[in-house]
Amino acid sequence: MKKSFTYFDNAATTKVLKPAVLAATDCMIKNFANPSSMHQFGLNAENILNSSRKTIAKILNCEPNEIIFTSGATMSINLALLGSTINVKNPKKNNKNKIITTQIEHAATRNCLNELARQGFKVVEVKPNNKIYTAENFVNQIDETTILISIMHVNNENGLVLPIEEITKLVKTKQKNILIHIDCVQSFTKLKIDLAKIPVDFVSISGHKIGSPKGIGALFIRKNSKIKPIIFGANQENKLFPGTQNLPAIAGFAVAAKFHYDNIEKHYKHFKTLKNELVDAFSNCNNVKFNFEENFHAPYIVNLSIERIRSQVMLNFLEKCGFLVSSGSACARGKTSTILTNLGYGSKAQDSAIRVSFSFENSIDEVKNLVRAIKTGAKTITKIK
Ligand code: PLP
Repeated sequence: MKKSFTYFDNAATTKVLKPAVLAATDCMIKNFANPSSMHQFGLNAENILNSSRKTIAKILNCEPNEIIFTSGATMSINLALLGSTINVKNPKKNNKNKIITTQIEHAATRNCLNELARQGFKVVEVKPNNKIYTAENFVNQIDETTILISIMHVNNENGLVLPIEEITKLVKTKQKNILIHIDCVQSFTKLKIDLAKIPVDFVSISGHKIGSPKGIGALFIRKNSKIKPIIFGANQENKLFPGTQNLPAIAGFAVAAKFHYDNIEKHYKHFKTLKNELVDAFSNCNNVKFNFEENFHAPYIVNLSIERIRSQVMLNFLEKCGFLVSSGSACARGKTSTILTNLGYGSKAQDSAIRVSFSFENSIDEVKNLVRAIKTGAKTITKIK
């Protein structure tokens, strides 16, 4: 008999939504033309491209011409960070060479900034304060050498929410020329992001976390924010991501984003219910600790540690019981993540962390069944001495 699984790894990637599949399929078999072609079919494809851009822009409350489609958030982040610093000559000796970030960024940002550090930029990783980040953490680091700040909105491992409106406003009040990039991959269409209120220059988002086909993302570039191309080709996407657009994925991305945005409050409420079910079920268990701070938490990513049981052992046990969760970031596969340690939860919590990340389709009963399986695992798995 074929085993059925309950999928709780939606922060890694999600099932593609049916309407997104249909929109993508339509662009593969009917509206398949190149959006740059000047004939009727090309114009039809261009209309889809334009309306998809409008959809994403409306959700973020920005102008359509401030949205560049890319091949995913990793590309968007690279374009924002490398493209906004490319004009800094001889960064090692330049007195405008400081870049500020957090200690909990996704590898896409971390490794891009490692490259900039290698080139001579001074990259400062700001420490959290009592397991959270506040605007003061960043403002205290700003000086006249600072050119760029890159931070995430929601952490992909424990759902920590950074107060991006407060941070960006305070930074820009102190020094308006500092460019700010925000990685909104884990918050796009799940938390409201109103770019008319957030003085940010660049925002990276990705499709595959919200039910679109993979290999599609976007970069918001505020009008007049300074950025240069890092790859070269024809004129597509304002010359910043040249090459024929991936229209099937773009169409699917827009449909998925609209679906989530139209249901943002309903889904948020549902995520809270699922999270509370999970947390409350362990309220009397001293051996289970939750690795998040209640007032700074996105309820669709719940990270917990079961004392003296290694993440991978619990993961394997849960998989045998039919539940797919993860130990942290899917991209950190095979490597130990240090995000929880950096946040201050300690290395023991890190070693036994499991991440449960919800989709709007997960049900209370599925969470109840997961709780039962975790409790059985906690009783039966041999503990680390
Ligand atoms: N940033 C965060 C917070 C993520 O969770 C991810 C994906 O795991 C990325 C960036 C990279 O996104 P993509 O897979 O679209 O390149």
